Amino acid sequence: MPLHIIRQDITRMETDAIVNAANPTLLGGGGVDGAIHKAAGKGLLLECMKLGGCKIGMAKLTSAHKLPCRYVIHTVGPKWKGGTGGEKELLKSCYRESLKLALEKECKSVAFPLISSGVYGYPKDKALKVAIDVIGDFLLENEMTVYIVIFDKASYQISEKLFADITEYIDDNYAFAHVESRLERSCRAPKMCSESCAAPVFLDKCPTFSGTLINNLAQIDESFSQMLLRKIDEKGMTDAQCYKKANIDRKLFSKIRSDVNYKPSKPTVIAFAISLELPLDEAEDMLKKAGFALSHSNKFDIIIEYFISKGKYDIHEINEALFAFDQSLLGA
Ligand code: ADP
Repeated sequence: MPLHIIRQDITRMETDAIVNAANPTLLGGGGVDGAIHKAAGKGLLLECMKLGGCKIGMAKLTSAHKLPCRYVIHTVGPKWKGGTGGEKELLKSCYRESLKLALEKECKSVAFPLISSGVYGYPKDKALKVAIDVIGDFLLENEMTVYIVIFDKASYQISEKLFADITEYIDDNYAFAHVESRLERSCRAPKMCSESCAAPVFLDKCPTFSGTLINNLAQIDESFSQMLLRKIDEKGMTDAQCYKKANIDRKLFSKIRSDVNYKPSKPTVIAFAISLELPLDEAEDMLKKAGFALSHSNKFDIIIEYFISKGKYDIHEINEALFAFDQSLLGA
């Protein structure tokens, strides 16, 4: 999965690089900066002393000393001043400049804290959005595994409105599921054709229905992999556009492409359905093809249904929400 959101202490990350939310002196401080210096040992401070500080929005690289990663990228985030002092552009620049340095050093993996969201006071939901937008754009063009490391749950927030909307949707649909399953059990009458037949007939006697059935049968033998490739073509997308939008690793996509009988996991199927912007019925068909379904007795499924039914297909926004509700993330 190219972009992960995880809960962890960044000093324990064994990525090629970790990013430090430093101050302009680069001589250590509190928060994540203090934790990184403490874990790295005195050698890091001695190296930082030679760097001559760093401007807000810029980044500088050192070795990692006693940390388990290879490099530390020090970037200086803006202090929040109400949003009118160019904070957003500066914060974006922190992520861009850090990623640029990571690329130059051929890092395959990088871990970021939520820059500026601590002592510097940048509102956490906005700081998270900036991080995800810039990293998401970067990953459309570059191959790397990037982690957004959330230290404690309290420092992680999605927008209040989105959180409230999803909570309401979960409440409504979770309750509804129980009523629905009782109704389903008591309603097993044969279905009538509602297509072009003038008089109601049973489905198996209806010529219109039989025609549709033959077309549908042609697709029954299609495997998940074939269905996916067909849908990518139908949407006029390239393979790369599709797997990148799905937060799916290129290697995994190649495997799916070359193995006609590939058995994907449920989050992988959903990630592709989101990337292809399939409406709910088509997303459910794709899931069925892989042997899965969306259920109303499962929070993860209801959250996915919420986003698809609202036509919101930004995988990173969905992952933000899934993380906020302690669910596993989409992609692979
Ligand atoms: P800033 O001055 O840029 O706001 P802070 O260090 O005060 O930097 O906070 C930035 C973010 O880093 C906060 O969300 C804070 O919760 C988080 N943080 C603090 N310690 C760690 C750690 N050890 N690992 C990962 N994140 C951390």
